[in-house]
Amino acid sequence: MGAFKLGKMTFGSLFKKPETVLYPVVTKPQPAGLKGHVAIEVNDCILCGMCDRSCSTDCITVDRQARTWTIDRLQCVQCGYCITVCPKKCLSMDPNYAPATIVHEPDVFQVPEQEKAGKKADEKPDDKPATEKPVAAADAKAEEPDEAKPDAQLMALIGLMDDEKAAKVRSALNV
Ligand code: SF4
Ligand code: SF4
Repeated sequence: MGAFKLGKMTFGSLFKKPETVLYPVVTKPQPAGLKGHVAIEVNDCILCGMCDRSCSTDCITVDRQARTWTIDRLQCVQCGYCITVCPKKCLSMDPNYAPATIVHEPDVFQVPEQEKAGKKADEKPDDKPATEKPVAAADAKAEEPDEAKPDAQLMALIGLMDDEKAAKVRSALNV
């Protein structure tokens, strides 16, 4: 009896429309709330590395020297924790799937230098006011862009963290 049922099902499926589609050529409408892939707004990233240290599958790499933010999408489980811990809120969950690929290569994003606060929009990078003095290496920290420094909201957030986590964030942000 069981074999008869199975045979009937198998035979019947030969004439039914398949449930699957020829992805990625054909796609299905995405359900609401789908966790597609992690997206980054690189202009807001301060390369603090919180996402890197917090990722449970170790798929994010933050390189402060090269100013790159890298994610291995085949390793990401879309848990969203990196989005929660990012102090600049520059990570989000894009509801679309990442493009299909047959090559296992991480996505690398170049993080631009933060513009100095108060710098005129039309000022060229090499333009210096006549009164500007060369900055000694020891004073270089004082010349860091304001956007790279934590704001009051961030400091309040750090205050809510446990001691170990707060120490890691402070060390990453140099505060
Ligand atoms: S969503 Fe989860 S697994 Fe994916 S990068 Fe973020 S923390 Fe890692
Ligand atoms: S936690 Fe946010 S700001 Fe820090 S490195 Fe990751 S994406 Fe950039």
